[in-house]
Amino acid sequence: MNSFSSKNRVDIIQQINNSSFDLLVIGGGITGAGIALDASARGLKVALIEMQDFASGTSGRSTKLIHGGLRYLKQLELKLVAEVGKERDIVHKNAPHLTKPEPMLLPIAKGGSLNKFTARIAMFVYEIIAGVKKEERHTFLSKEETLKIEPLLKQKDLIGGILFYEYRTDDARLTIEVLKKAVATGTLAINYMKATSFNYTNDNITGANIHDEINGNQYQINAKYIVNACGPWVDEIGDLDQKRNKHKLQITKGIHLVVDWKKLPIKQSAYFDTFDNRMIFVIPREGKTYIGTTDTFYNDDIIHPKITNIDRDYILKCVNDYFPEQKLGAADIESGWAGIRPLVKKSNKGASEISRKDEIFESQSGLITIAGGKLTGYRKMANRIVDIIAKKINSTNKIKISNCKTNNIKLSGGEINKNFTFSEFMEVNILRGIDLGLTKEEAQKLTSRYGSNVAEIFQIIESLKVDYAYNIPIFLFSQLIYSIEKEMCVTPSDFFIRRISSLYFDIELVKEWGQKLVVCMQNIQGWDDNLTEHYSLELQKSINEIDEIKK
Ligand code: FAD
Repeated sequence: MNSFSSKNRVDIIQQINNSSFDLLVIGGGITGAGIALDASARGLKVALIEMQDFASGTSGRSTKLIHGGLRYLKQLELKLVAEVGKERDIVHKNAPHLTKPEPMLLPIAKGGSLNKFTARIAMFVYEIIAGVKKEERHTFLSKEETLKIEPLLKQKDLIGGILFYEYRTDDARLTIEVLKKAVATGTLAINYMKATSFNYTNDNITGANIHDEINGNQYQINAKYIVNACGPWVDEIGDLDQKRNKHKLQITKGIHLVVDWKKLPIKQSAYFDTFDNRMIFVIPREGKTYIGTTDTFYNDDIIHPKITNIDRDYILKCVNDYFPEQKLGAADIESGWAGIRPLVKKSNKGASEISRKDEIFESQSGLITIAGGKLTGYRKMANRIVDIIAKKINSTNKIKISNCKTNNIKLSGGEINKNFTFSEFMEVNILRGIDLGLTKEEAQKLTSRYGSNVAEIFQIIESLKVDYAYNIPIFLFSQLIYSIEKEMCVTPSDFFIRRISSLYFDIELVKEWGQKLVVCMQNIQGWDDNLTEHYSLELQKSINEIDEIKK
């Protein structure tokens, strides 16, 4: 099986450099990860490169919902609603540890975008189109019932509510679990490796020159087909191609804020109207509540989008309009993130009106680009891309590439014993974790974060107990070892942001253990002092940026 350990970076590079693949995927967000898995599962020889860490683009900065896209009904995006609605079930089935059904309250208020009548019709149409399961269909609530389940809501103008289901996920971990499965199925994947130019044979694209972002070395990959799955960067990659098409993207920014749950103690998630006719989510998670998102045109730095005071104050205003007693202020904010949407350009549309549909383009040289789309629909997007490649291969070769198989492929961590329900699986592993000396909360976190792979974390804990010399809690250290050896974690930021999402949902933990963990990683990875200082400053910069949101 291919390695996905950052300790084996040199070996992986050796296997990639000057080698020939059926498919090279550029971009290690959810789109690229999904394509790599689909193509590997159909027997193609695949390489995937990512210039930063996996999921450090849009795929680690979303609202973290596997959702049916109720709001897209308004724009009559029926096909999109149908697709993502149905995909929710498949993602849930294949990664139950990463997709939790989430009851979502939609309050209906006088003057809002829906009245009782239109809400009833919208829900009816939505559930038919999205193929919502019977047990997850909506319930209509009176004003009193709505307030009973969410007493914090503004009472003035409230008419009633609807309770419906979405699924909550961890976007970065979903991307990494898809990639882990792709690697287990044959993909060679590597992060911190940037595509810088292309090579051609008779004007057809046949390879890429790549740059190691860690040590500055240059390598080359040859591939029969190349897919540009670079999200907000697809135009930049297009610019590297001699025969590129016109720029395709319109980028918008969306931000989220995180507060302690006690500051906004909602009983379940809610999705509510804003004063400017948009919709915003408030979602409880791990003792916090997060709120988002904005949707504004953006043409600044796409690697480091920032939360401005205008973004922050907009979200605070929206949430205080609906939960007036809470009086949230900037000082209450614990964390937050900004992400950018790679939407396919359409003229004369407002930011929230641009379609979220994906589109596929092929340049004259053969570079295949996929832009737009949703985290939720990643599997179908991958299916479409690999179908295009399979058709090309099938037309030129005697070998037949099979149809898409990912419908039935469990993601890494999703291989739960069929004799257990998910809650039984959780119970058994929580007890196992407690036996190993973890607290109940720690055991619960590990089991729901890693799913069936929690067994590997428990093994690490067991082996550490013999001779543990680090001054870092075993709960944290065991995850660090696992993420380095099994999830290609390279830097402390990779760990705290995209492997365990503490920077967003437990920033105190990062402040307490961050720099000790840097020293520990230096020992494990053999970094020199310069590199160690670089990574230490990088982590501190992320913490400082979050502290700035409060000011
Ligand atoms: P990215 O995740 O950006 O991946 C592209 C990758 O390409 C990047 O990691 C980048 O580093 C890499 N790359 C770029 N150039 C190069 C190069 N030269 N060489 C190598 N690698 C390169 N969808 C949902 O379904 N549910 C939600 O709740 C949701 N909420 C959202 C909220 C916000 C605020 C935003 C912005 C989006 C949201 N979305 C949601 C949409 C979803 O997040 C995106 O559609 C999806 O993450 C896009 O993934 P991607 O892989 O195409 O792009």
